[in-house]
Amino acid sequence: MFFYIHIPFCRQKCLYCKFALTPRYDERKVQAYISALMREISAFFEENPTVAIETIYFWGGTPSILSPEQIGEIISVFRAQKGCVSVSEITMESNPEDITNEYLKVVSQLWINRLSLGIQTLNNESLHMVGRSDSNESIVRSLATIANSTMENVSIDLMAGLPCTVPWQIRDDLNMIFSYFVPRHVSIYMLENESYPENWKQHLPSEDTIRNEYMSGIEWLKAKGFNHYELSNFAIPGFESKHNQSYWNHSDYRGFWLSAASFIDGKRFVNHASFVRYYRWDKQEDETLNLDSLRIERIMFGLRTNGVCLNDLNNPCMIDRFITEGLLEIREDKVFPTSTWIFLIDHIMGELI
Ligand code: SF4
Repeated sequence: MFFYIHIPFCRQKCLYCKFALTPRYDERKVQAYISALMREISAFFEENPTVAIETIYFWGGTPSILSPEQIGEIISVFRAQKGCVSVSEITMESNPEDITNEYLKVVSQLWINRLSLGIQTLNNESLHMVGRSDSNESIVRSLATIANSTMENVSIDLMAGLPCTVPWQIRDDLNMIFSYFVPRHVSIYMLENESYPENWKQHLPSEDTIRNEYMSGIEWLKAKGFNHYELSNFAIPGFESKHNQSYWNHSDYRGFWLSAASFIDGKRFVNHASFVRYYRWDKQEDETLNLDSLRIERIMFGLRTNGVCLNDLNNPCMIDRFITEGLLEIREDKVFPTSTWIFLIDHIMGELI
């Protein structure tokens, strides 16, 4: 089974962020929250003592806000389980400002073998406008630190569509990052929050610019030998994120801590975002997906990854139309978006489900 810990803290809230982030990070209270988390993890393994642990993902929020000792404390609960022999990937999301020689050294000793660095952009104006706590300087410092460390399996996150983006931003950022080291994995997400603050509007790039940024990022990474294995994700072959693939393959996963979602035996549930209600084990959502909901999710995930089985699609006229228009293609009995029109995936999805 795949596991993740949702760290519900950040130093400050980025203005485009939609994640539930409660409570406010308070160093004096964090140990109490961690104790509750440890109880949740221990209770799960008491009920499921032999479950195989495939991956563990420290997801945020900002996981690197926790001290290595606190991360070590959490990992020790997993290490004590019988099923820990099968662990192959432990990912730590980190903000560039938290990366130091000491941090990387300690984190590597804790069993963590994959670092996911939330860069978003190297453009200082964009970083400032969206309220990121990092700057171009702190990001470049983190790149140099990683380049001089033994941490090899590094993933980086970039974002297209931020305010103040300049032409070729993504390519320039990739060039700069790769001049320090070659990440094994890159994610390029699109900013998709319609409720932008008023003062962003005049600084936002046009849809054409966002598309060009994204498409030029794809081209650049493919030329470097990266496998475009999910709409927003690229990897040197063999370094695709095992953990993230579990979501897209409908594998069972268990999330711990506030707001964490789980999917087990076709049932999805989400821990409560309020600490008081989380403490009582209340769920924010709790649903068993019926066959049709699972089919719709397979279409959504399949379009973004390794194709949709023809058996899951029940509107042949629409598929024929999209094939004629060049938006979709069929390979080995599966339907894929064509690479030319991949950025229209949301529109295609809307018509197919
Ligand atoms: S660091 Fe990530 S999770 Fe935290 S506020 Fe910013 S976007 Fe949201």
